[in-house]
Amino acid sequence: MIKGAYVHIPFCEHICYYCDFNKYFIKNQPVEDYLKALDLEMATTMIQAGGVRPETIFIGGGTPTVLQDEHFARLLESIRKHLYHEETAEFAVEINPENLNIAKLEAMKRAGVDRLSIGIQTFDDTLLAAIGRMHSRESAIAAVQLAKDYGFHNISVDLMFGLPGQTRAQLEHSLHAAMQLDPQHISIYSLQVEPRTIFYHRMKQGKLKLPGQDIEAEMYELLIKVLRDRGFEQYEISNFAKPGYESRHNIIYWNNEEYYGFGAGAHGYIQGQRVVNARAVKGYITRVRSEGHAMVERHSVTLQEKVEEELFLGLRKLRGINKKTFEEKYHRSLDYFYKDVIANLVKKGLLHEDKEHISLTEKGVFLGNEVFEAFLV
Ligand code: SF4
Repeated sequence: MIKGAYVHIPFCEHICYYCDFNKYFIKNQPVEDYLKALDLEMATTMIQAGGVRPETIFIGGGTPTVLQDEHFARLLESIRKHLYHEETAEFAVEINPENLNIAKLEAMKRAGVDRLSIGIQTFDDTLLAAIGRMHSRESAIAAVQLAKDYGFHNISVDLMFGLPGQTRAQLEHSLHAAMQLDPQHISIYSLQVEPRTIFYHRMKQGKLKLPGQDIEAEMYELLIKVLRDRGFEQYEISNFAKPGYESRHNIIYWNNEEYYGFGAGAHGYIQGQRVVNARAVKGYITRVRSEGHAMVERHSVTLQEKVEEELFLGLRKLRGINKKTFEEKYHRSLDYFYKDVIANLVKKGLLHEDKEHISLTEKGVFLGNEVFEAFLV
């Protein structure tokens, strides 16, 4: 069964220096045509699925909230028509603080949106400018407050650490500023410098000064402590939630379950195939108009690949992988595939194993990449 649906809005007002997502300046883009194509892609896909709707919906970008209010409302109506149902378990939207307003909050309430993921990154104005974000500490606080006042009580504050020039004290201040807003969830990823980003070019020219690996590890240790002390459970390497507020949509990815990807450049996992849509906005629109979908790449995942993905995605969850569930899914035990690898990681103190689960140890959480690589053939 296909569990989730991701809907991509590839438009931004401004390009952040670290961003390698599929996004385009919104100015002069055919937004109306894009929304029509999205509507058609969702309609066609749901007909092919025999009307079976996904359990979770996530609208991401790009910047979904950069759409004009009328376009934003139309997008939500489309999603409600094709994907939403009474038993939708989670309907989440990614929000940029600088363009959240009452009209958008109203449209989301009407459509049944029940979770907001607000991209703040840091509450430090100097660092916000250094990474190319458009909002300020003040506008970020105002956006969260507005959403709360409007009755949204499942809010994720999304942060980053390891930013250029960032100190541990600045990270601690940001975490405390986030705590003042009393969110239900915190996502916090370390900055990765990816090719085709402004930071990548600066790095190549020797103009990007990042905290070293040791400082980054100290920052990670600090944030885990601060968040745990404030009652957040770390349920995934980079995600923390108050009880009952884990991201259901993201858990679908970490459980290696299937999901639809709608929109330009969106990735999906459908009936054993990893699929990718046309990346360019116009190319996407043209394909959907002629074929009803825009898939340009398909890859049938082999058993070996599935098992590897199961391990490196599943071990990101702090509760780890349930051995019985694994065996039911793959008709062979975890030991059949990885007995020696698991024994070796347990010996190194990176993995914990009991009768029911394997999971990362405290040390393994810090050295996740070493653990994940061990499961790749
Ligand atoms: S981080 Fe978000 S807002 Fe910034 S450029 Fe990327 S997609 Fe756009």
